[in-house]
Amino acid sequence: MGCGAAAPLGLCQECLSGLEPPSATPPPRGVEEWWAPYDYAGAWRDVVVAAKARRARALVALLAGALVECVGTGLAVFPGTHPDVVTWPPTTSRRRLRRGYDPAELLARAVARSRMCPAARLLVRDRDAPAQMGRGRRARRRGPRFTANRSLAGFTVLVVDDVSTTGATITASADALHRAGAASVLAATAARTPRPQGTCEER
Ligand SMILES: [Zn+2]
Repeated sequence: MGCGAAAPLGLCQECLSGLEPPSATPPPRGVEEWWAPYDYAGAWRDVVVAAKARRARALVALLAGALVECVGTGLAVFPGTHPDVVTWPPTTSRRRLRRGYDPAELLARAVARSRMCPAARLLVRDRDAPAQMGRGRRARRRGPRFTANRSLAGFTVLVVDDVSTTGATITASADALHRAGAASVLAATAARTPRPQGTCEER
């Protein structure tokens, strides 16, 4: 990935330090703050794509490190509160089985550990909704549907995902969390596409 130099984490130090900071992008609907260490582009996109591929779990550590640092910086300047709980939009069980893990869950747990707050599986995916890839463009933009599995009255919830292109998955998560009573929803993704015409928000 990147320049192709051998690197234990998949991207050499030079490529890492050459990554550009993310573009300023308004948060998806329903979310108060949205943090991402980098745009979904260039060498970073290579890392994200590989981390989402089958059994590339080691690469998730690279994403987690950048995300943890980014969330720390974001929360430091956010004049609100600490998240009460960290969660993630779950992938389909079929994808989880094929990969052996859910990258979003691993990232959420890493962020939660770094903030010393709990990570919890709060969102249940609508069983009828197929994965994003393979659906029509309009359905993909609408995104998946989630339901929260418990009351979140008054909670500040941080939603963590690997990549957000259209923002649809984050917004669907925020909708479900708000319906369960969440007072505030924050989001952090390891990468993001600044323009709404994203092409692949496969989960
Ligand atoms: Zn390199």
